[in-house]
Amino acid sequence: MPTMPPEAMSRPKPKMPHAQTFGDLPKPVVPKTENRKLLKGQKAIVTGASSGIGRSIALALGHAGASVCVNYVAGEDTAALEVIEGKKAWPRQKPPFPVTVGLFGKPTAVNNVETLANVPPIILHGAEWYRRFGTAESSGTMIFSLNDDVNRPGVYELPFGTPLRYLVEECGGGMKGGKKIKAIMPAAPSSAFLPPDKIDTPLDHNSMREAGSALGCGVVRLIGEGTCIVEEVLKISEFFTVESCGQCPACRMETNTLTSLLKKVQQGQGGQPILEQFGKILAFNKGKGFCNLIAMPGPPIESALKLFSNDFQAHLATGKCPAAN
Ligand code: SF4
Repeated sequence: MPTMPPEAMSRPKPKMPHAQTFGDLPKPVVPKTENRKLLKGQKAIVTGASSGIGRSIALALGHAGASVCVNYVAGEDTAALEVIEGKKAWPRQKPPFPVTVGLFGKPTAVNNVETLANVPPIILHGAEWYRRFGTAESSGTMIFSLNDDVNRPGVYELPFGTPLRYLVEECGGGMKGGKKIKAIMPAAPSSAFLPPDKIDTPLDHNSMREAGSALGCGVVRLIGEGTCIVEEVLKISEFFTVESCGQCPACRMETNTLTSLLKKVQQGQGGQPILEQFGKILAFNKGKGFCNLIAMPGPPIESALKLFSNDFQAHLATGKCPAAN
């Protein structure tokens, strides 16, 4: 049985596995929504409640222009602002940051929905109440999603500091078909792979960093035995190649080159020297993009080379996928 960390044991036990930490709270009072006409070109404007402070908040949920640029990088804060302004989802060069020059040139705070969802209960119950959940450095809960390599893929809310094993075994019902775990990506697809012996790592930012990866947005990917890591990394690299918005030459060059090198490895070409190219390309392009996407292929590729060199060697030696043997 997985064990909870000692500090979590002393706290009120959240309902598991679908921890509804805030489920016992009174429902917020939602004022009547204002009937507003959509502005020309706008898809929706929702007026909702901020709950607890009695004011309404208008949320602009997108612009007609957004329909042509819904992609991964549109989640980057300045790209999201561009989309709301009806432009392409292209991240802006920073500085200036949105807090000084944001939406339509005005100072703007950009936060994700998960962060904002935590605000009403904190206002209702106070910071001390909120800090009872999670760890000293990572307060509260986080939403984690599990891929379909487990028996119960889905989305689970857990206090920070809960062991990864709990998420996989208790929430996800363990690996499908009883497969052993070959690799863990705690924040797929941009996180470093972890070996299976890191399964008891607490799900909080510091612990994941110390383990050699990152918690990111909590999209946890489990990779079962029998999966070739070269194939996995190639898929990740192709994803970033497609999702790069292409406005920074370094990012275009890097993502395309990494993918073509990985394809060569997959086909058994390039010998040992090709493996040395990855680190050089990533180091050369470090910090040369307007956003962090340029850095995202680095952790999965570099950790894969380190932890799963057998898969790379097998491809280079035979030009085949070891998992297919
Ligand atoms: S780093 Fe890549 S994704 Fe980010 S703005 Fe530049 S080209 Fe676009």
